[in-house]
Amino acid sequence: MASKIVMCDPCSRLNKSSEGFKYCTDCEDTLCTDCAALHSAVKLLASHHLVDVSVTTGNTFNIKKVCNDHEDMCYEFYCSDHDCLICRTCIANTHRTCGKIQPIEVAAKGCKSSSILEDVSKDIASLLISTKTLLEDRQKKKISVRQSKAKVLKEIAKFRQDINDHLDQLENKCRSEVDILERIISQTVGNELADADKRQHVIQEIWQQVGFFTKNGSESQLFIFLNTVRSDISRQAASLQDIIPSLETNDLEFEPLDLISVMKSFGSVKKVLSHVQ
Ligand SMILES: [Zn+2]
Ligand SMILES: [Zn+2]
Ligand SMILES: [Zn+2]
Ligand SMILES: [Zn+2]
Repeated sequence: MASKIVMCDPCSRLNKSSEGFKYCTDCEDTLCTDCAALHSAVKLLASHHLVDVSVTTGNTFNIKKVCNDHEDMCYEFYCSDHDCLICRTCIANTHRTCGKIQPIEVAAKGCKSSSILEDVSKDIASLLISTKTLLEDRQKKKISVRQSKAKVLKEIAKFRQDINDHLDQLENKCRSEVDILERIISQTVGNELADADKRQHVIQEIWQQVGFFTKNGSESQLFIFLNTVRSDISRQAASLQDIIPSLETNDLEFEPLDLISVMKSFGSVKKVLSHVQ
């Protein structure tokens, strides 16, 4: 990766342009070779830290120095009594009686080999482990929720299939009830039909014979015949009167249960608690 060119800050302020090679972490300035040499020569700046410009790529030396309590002030001191950085206003306000207040540069001596660095490093390392665990856990959770979704969808489909099967069974049961009832009613109606057919034959026969005797027989023959069939005819009429009210009048009808309006839902889907491993 080609590193991009950074310009020297002091030169830029003088409207010159030169490439920066060094960076002063105290001044927060990038310096060209000339300016870096000049910087090192100034007694006041002798304690400043110059690093290669390449070190600053992707890093920042720009640390927040503004006091948390006093926006317009910078941290300049360290109070050992309270273990905290403080500004001049802090000293005047809340640390007036504190015994051990040092300028930051003094308090910072030996920081790179101090226990504070060790403690903070340990804390960071353990936090890193915790966040890594958290990250892995959340990744697992994402996968497991996706798997749960697939499982739940399968269960819904299975439930639907079970309902279908159950409905098939109920439908078949209903159909066979229709068959049975239809057979029972049809049997009665069939008997009545056969009976009506027989009656019709008997009466047709009498009718034919009346015609036959009227056309071909003597009057005495017709007379005798008419008198003998008269009682048959009145018997038939009386029997018809008796039978008609008792004829099979039943029919079939289907009355569905109102399942559709009762079934408001298929079931419920909800979040359930599962513990973080
Ligand atoms: Zn400097
Ligand atoms: Zn310069
Ligand atoms: Zn302050
Ligand atoms: Zn203090």
